[in-house]
Amino acid sequence: MSGQNRLAILGSTGSVGLSTLQVVRDNPGIEVVALSAHSNTRLLLEQCQEFKPQYVILSDETQGDEFAAHLKAVSFQGELLLGPEGLNQIAGSPDVDSVMAAIVGAAGLASSLKAAECGKKLLLANKESLVMSGSLFMEAARRGGATIIPIDSEHNAIFQCLPESERHAQLLNSQQITKLVLTASGGPFLRTDLDQLASVTPEQACDHPRWSMGRKISVDSASMMNKGLEVIEACFLFGISPQDIEVLIHPESIIHSMVYYRDGSVLAQMANPDMRVPIAHGLAYPQRIDSGVESLDLVSLGSLRFEAPDFQRFPCLGLGREAAEQGGTTPAVLNAANEEAVAAFLAGRIGFDKIPLIIEELMLKTPCEEAASLAIIREADERTRTLAKQLISKRFA
Ligand code: NAD
Ligand code: MG
Repeated sequence: MSGQNRLAILGSTGSVGLSTLQVVRDNPGIEVVALSAHSNTRLLLEQCQEFKPQYVILSDETQGDEFAAHLKAVSFQGELLLGPEGLNQIAGSPDVDSVMAAIVGAAGLASSLKAAECGKKLLLANKESLVMSGSLFMEAARRGGATIIPIDSEHNAIFQCLPESERHAQLLNSQQITKLVLTASGGPFLRTDLDQLASVTPEQACDHPRWSMGRKISVDSASMMNKGLEVIEACFLFGISPQDIEVLIHPESIIHSMVYYRDGSVLAQMANPDMRVPIAHGLAYPQRIDSGVESLDLVSLGSLRFEAPDFQRFPCLGLGREAAEQGGTTPAVLNAANEEAVAAFLAGRIGFDKIPLIIEELMLKTPCEEAASLAIIREADERTRTLAKQLISKRFA
């Protein structure tokens, strides 16, 4: 691998974080300079012992003293930073070349944005930050000179299928490219009877047929809000309008997305469904390294299937599209309402079928404002969370 490769992994104890560390283990040229977790101190301590980073960040500062004592007991030589400010400090640090943004949810916004502003190579897994603040985010990256490499597998696939000149253009050349297709597995409830969706459990929702992921994104995949968020993400990343993005169910999850060209050509990226593929691509870009993932055996797969999504089964997909079309602060409202509804579902407080009802009601209640500043976006996020908590307690819990 060429160039400096001092990597900070924000969210190293999560699913994407662990896959990233696995690729690092297989590729000794990558230097891990920072690791972060919110509260899983046991795993973070193990990672510090193995990777010996220069910095470690614990964003939940309430456990700071205890964790500092553990680090001391294992003679950790690096520096411990506490709280969300520590994440921002590392995302912008001159000691860091690349930032893997793998924190889940809105909690990842500030540090991802900081890395964009400071011109880092930004490996962006945290889709929620783009959904919330897309225009501001892309503008910050442009001004800061950051290189954003999407790690979300669909967007990474599109990135790979675009000509190099279009990958960072922030406005897709519609003379050449006619549409983008995001594929979706359909999740665990693709064929479940609709009247059973009220009683599915968090365990069933998190039991994804193809991908192993964190709990929040697993629920988003089951409701297909994940694909709604990804439509918004693609609009901002590639500068394309939502009407030019199609969503296609592809249960095998082998084709990760596609680019349709004017002359009838369609370029698709294929791989076994394992996040180490887009992560290895992002880490090595523009070169290639081993991801540790088995190469595709198309003969044993035999066939690949595709079908149009059913918007009645997956109302969250329609809500995501609507938010993409409205723009402004609506995607931030959608995201906040979804995060609160998913947390309530995972806590056993509401049924799975209530998730879209809560989001739809909050989208209807909240006026769409221009997303002119981070303060306006944060205010929309906070207001929606307060309203969502009230709505959940009063009507749905
Ligand atoms: P996860 O829940 O497994 O891990 C989340 C990580 O974020 C953990 O390290 C945790 O310590 C940290 N974290 C949680 N709350 C935090 C907070 N308040 N402040 C700071 N850090 C906090 O999540 P994941 O599945 O790895 O997903 C991470 C991100 O990547 C999400 O935005 C998700 O949408 C995106 N993504 C994940 C996958 C996947 O396969 N898991 C695929 C595509 C995109
Ligand atoms: Mg994805």
